[in-house]
Amino acid sequence: KGKRAFIAGIADDNGYGWAIAKSLAAAGAEILVGTWVPALNIFETSLRRGKFDESRKLPNGSLMKITKVYPLDAVFDNLEDVPEDVKLNKRYAGSTKWTVQEVAECVKEDFGSIDILVHSLANGPEVAKPLLETSRKGYLAAISASSYSYISLLKHFIPIMNPGGAAISLTYIASERIIPGYGGGMSSAKAALESDTRVLAYEAGRSKKIRVNTISAGPLGSRAAKAIGFIEKMIEYSYKNAPVQKELLADEVGNAAAFLVSPLASAVTGSVVYVDNGLNAMGLAS
Ligand code: NAD
Repeated sequence: KGKRAFIAGIADDNGYGWAIAKSLAAAGAEILVGTWVPALNIFETSLRRGKFDESRKLPNGSLMKITKVYPLDAVFDNLEDVPEDVKLNKRYAGSTKWTVQEVAECVKEDFGSIDILVHSLANGPEVAKPLLETSRKGYLAAISASSYSYISLLKHFIPIMNPGGAAISLTYIASERIIPGYGGGMSSAKAALESDTRVLAYEAGRSKKIRVNTISAGPLGSRAAKAIGFIEKMIEYSYKNAPVQKELLADEVGNAAAFLVSPLASAVTGSVVYVDNGLNAMGLAS
């Protein structure tokens, strides 16, 4: 029987989430997507108008099918968490049921269960600021959107995940090494995400035999990465200094994710898996 995947954090065809969706679709999975509420309209319109058709192409020539797109804001667990100004915000008022708990309920109602959960989202409003200049509010916002969101998604989706299922998220080496420019508490958020991956692997493994891993991905010129400001420099640095000197393709991260959530990785859990052309292993720029 085919697997069903819910992928949180797709709003265009440039990011890691999209590439993971394609790899999973190519392996036969049914694809459900959670898209950030403010980005929902343009994503759905672009999908409908065929703007992504070229990048929907799978290796066998068919086009990836997205069964359903759910509006999602992963910084809110349920309606009680949503402040008035967000409720009244024009970009949110057009959609309903986009808190994590409500989305999980909707997926349950529509499909009953899922096998694979993908967390491919991050947000740090002060990412351009050095850590010493980051406000408490900005720091906590980064942790909320980029780390707690994984806990919240798992908490609400595990009850509808089939035993033997798996979850994957995306992290970045700034969690463990100094990457100047990756500020606003985003480095802290990734450190939390990696630590939580171990504890969540234990808890989800014991309760439902669900595996939890994270991929430490190399630099990609996604929309989120471009907002940070130094992504071209990071891509160039990686190309120059990694053991394997080649462009890192989003599809390579997609394929590694498909492996990690598949039965081929049935004994891999609680791991941080590097998909970065090996850059993490270097001790000296070369
Ligand atoms: P992306 O822009 O494709 O994905 C980020 C997504 O997060 C966007 O679709 C955005 O709409 C969504 N999002 C932001 N806040 C949200 C919220 N509150 N609720 C729901 N969705 C929200 O960019 P990407 O670089 O592919 O990012 C995906 C993941 O990969 C992130 O965790 C990122 O940190 C990680 N990553 C990226 C790189 C890189 O160089 N691009 C490297 C390592 C790790």
